[in-house]
Amino acid sequence: MYGIPEFRLPKEIVQKEIGHLKEMGVKIVTNFVVGRSDSIDSIMEQGYEAVFIGSGAGLPNFMGLPGENCKGVYSANEFLTRINLMKAYREESDTPVQHPKRCVVVGGGNVAMDAARCARRLGAEVHIVYRRSMEELPARKEEVEHAQEEGIVFDLLCNPVKVIGNEEGWCTQIECIRMELGEPDASGRRRPVPIEGSNFTIDIDCMIMAIGTSPNPLIRHTTEGLEVNRKGCFICDEEGMTSRENIYAGGDAVSGAATVINAMGAGKKAAAAIDAKMKNRS
Ligand SMILES: Cc1cc2nc3c(=O)[nH]c(=O)nc-3n(C[C@H](O)[C@H](O)[C@H](O)COP(=O)(O)OP(=O)(O)OC[C@H]3O[C@@H](n4cnc5c(N)ncnc54)[C@H](O)[C@@H]3O)c2cc1C
Repeated sequence: MYGIPEFRLPKEIVQKEIGHLKEMGVKIVTNFVVGRSDSIDSIMEQGYEAVFIGSGAGLPNFMGLPGENCKGVYSANEFLTRINLMKAYREESDTPVQHPKRCVVVGGGNVAMDAARCARRLGAEVHIVYRRSMEELPARKEEVEHAQEEGIVFDLLCNPVKVIGNEEGWCTQIECIRMELGEPDASGRRRPVPIEGSNFTIDIDCMIMAIGTSPNPLIRHTTEGLEVNRKGCFICDEEGMTSRENIYAGGDAVSGAATVINAMGAGKKAAAAIDAKMKNRS
């Protein structure tokens, strides 16, 4: 709803899926933040025998670059939420989004492609800045081809080092350094190595960071004994059960930012495990 744009996933289709669940009798409680409105332990005290956490990985990562706090610098999540959920591209919107003229999107995944194509639709000249080469781009091949067809420029093997702003605090340039690929790292992908003295700048009035997201720590901070790994993702067994009895988890909250199909598969696996466990117990 808030991430993947309308031109790639019409919201009517998402609403149809939700409609099916309601018809099946699933009750959906909205405007309820687990960990704030109520805790998982309190919810279980109200008679819920099992809980499944599918809270995703909605917290955007930043690079901590000098000047990253300039106006005109967005996380892809904020930029896409404003456009997809708040329709902020409409002039009459209460909180209209800036219509950039020269935009750089940092990152190479599906999120970066979506942010770039949305900025293009707002009329911007858009550059994708990615530290590895075309072969290593993690985005789906189709998304890259569509982005190229729409005139998005790919500045590959380069990495931002600084955002330069003007007196009013708006970003005006991004300084980058060229990279070359060295030995493979732990992920097996060749490590990008900076080429000293190869710095250059790109003029911008908008920059969008799309370098990944992490799980929001709220649920683990408000649920005793819920173990997570170093990336803040819930640790689960093969059926999705966490370190807490009858609390299950799946999707991005366990895998880190991944795919729709991975999340749906995890949900189904956990549902089967919960059902079997409840039946055995009774
Ligand atoms: C821009 C973008 C493009 C993408 N493109 C693709 C693609 O092309 N193909 C693909 O397979 N995947 C794509 N993905 C990834 C895919 O969307 C995710 O992997 C998938 O949505 C993860 O599903 P999930 O159910 O784990 O989490 P999410 O879909 O993130 O859902 C988590 C839900 O939990 C809610 N929530 C979080 N915390 C709480 C809380 N404390 N209390 C109550 N509710 C809470 C959130 O509001 C959210 O509604 C894309 C993601 C983005 C952002």
